Amino acid sequence: MTDYNVLLYYYFTWIDTPEVFAEEHRKLCSSLGLLGRILVSHEGINGTVSGRQESCKEYIEVVRSDKRFSNIEFKIDRVENHVFQKLSVRVKRELVTFRADDAVPSHVNGKGHIQRKRGQYVEPTDFLTLLESGEAIVIDGRTDYEYDLGHFRGALRPPVSSFREFPEWIRQELSKYKTRKIVTYCTGGIRCEKLTSFMIAEGFTDVYQLHGGIVTYGSDEAARGSLWDGRCYVFDERISIEINRAGNKRIVGKCYHCSAPTERYVNCANLDCHRQHLVCADCEERMQRSCSAECISARRRESLVG
Ligand SMILES: [Zn+2]
Ligand SMILES: [Zn+2]
Repeated sequence: MTDYNVLLYYYFTWIDTPEVFAEEHRKLCSSLGLLGRILVSHEGINGTVSGRQESCKEYIEVVRSDKRFSNIEFKIDRVENHVFQKLSVRVKRELVTFRADDAVPSHVNGKGHIQRKRGQYVEPTDFLTLLESGEAIVIDGRTDYEYDLGHFRGALRPPVSSFREFPEWIRQELSKYKTRKIVTYCTGGIRCEKLTSFMIAEGFTDVYQLHGGIVTYGSDEAARGSLWDGRCYVFDERISIEINRAGNKRIVGKCYHCSAPTERYVNCANLDCHRQHLVCADCEERMQRSCSAECISARRRESLVG
């Protein structure tokens, strides 16, 4: 039975009073029984929620009935149950913490839409053609641990564990590619909006981004997730989802302990550590789902005390 949906969405538009908006939005979601995480800021909304199909449908209608959000796109996935434990609607300064706003001029136009120069959208089938041609530099716009579980074949791995480290990496390592054709991708598209704006402001001249992100690419009937290797990390209880339905997927995740191929992320069983790591079934048992010998002993001490 799959009568639940997961929605993933963002939209840049000017919101005058984010606190008021967030409070009303929280009431709307809780009246529909939706769970998940929503960020609201002066620059718009970014969210992922789960709920019954009919509630999600109603939510989409209500959000779009607000003129500011009439063009918002929702990525819709089918699941068997909620993939969140609770509902959180928070106000933040930026929808994606990037902290490079000074370098990225944005303008609010007459309709209240926030306009930034960003990379041109590439639709899934054109993105696949680009991948196959090898003519573009493909940049993964996510963090290292997301990349390690799965990524597009041939994409550059950003050596960053948080999104705010991107500007420095781009300035230091990618400046030599300013005139090359560059295409970026991320889970749902929002990080690419920030990333490509920043790159254009830095003087990159030929920048593109995968429209709708990996999730849209995976559900596209023509691209069928082709040339995606591994699984796609998601920020809910599923931890990861399958993308490649084209039959050419390779497993790229490697066990933290023995380097065997794996696609399972677990958190270290020592709660003081809680390190997220990829682990194979054998090592998970052998290491009692801990990331190190120290964490195994810490847990032993813990259970003795308890
Ligand atoms: Zn292993
Ligand atoms: Zn640990």
